[in-house]
Amino acid sequence: MDKIEHIGIAVNDLTASNALFEKLFGEPHYKIEEVASEGVRTSFFRVGPNKIELLEATNDNSPIAKFLEKKGEGIHHIAFAVANLEGEMKRLEGEGFVILPGFPKNGADNKRVAFLHPKGTNGVLVELCQEIRVAETA
Ligand code: ZN
Repeated sequence: MDKIEHIGIAVNDLTASNALFEKLFGEPHYKIEEVASEGVRTSFFRVGPNKIELLEATNDNSPIAKFLEKKGEGIHHIAFAVANLEGEMKRLEGEGFVILPGFPKNGADNKRVAFLHPKGTNGVLVELCQEIRVAETA
């Protein structure tokens, strides 16, 4: 793994939290993006070289809705940048980690993503993400 790509925080109300985190960081979010397949609306902040992702549920079946119901607002996942998502998934499965079903798929912020089951990582939901490269012209 290359570095922490971002930290994801589950929030009840993205608009209210955007205003709060803008005050905290002294900078507004730089994008809002909905990932319909995951039932989430996200916003991203830059803090120096780091990124923070806020996540709001867009429907009751969203994994974020379930997380908020169980645990309330707070840190939801830590995302690590990887250069080769499939290769890293294979390596981690070989080490006994469990990849959540349905991944990899396209996530927010131009990333291909997969998640590890938090039961195998001391309760921490780990996201792996690889930047999707824009197709190069020959
Ligand atoms: Zn994330």
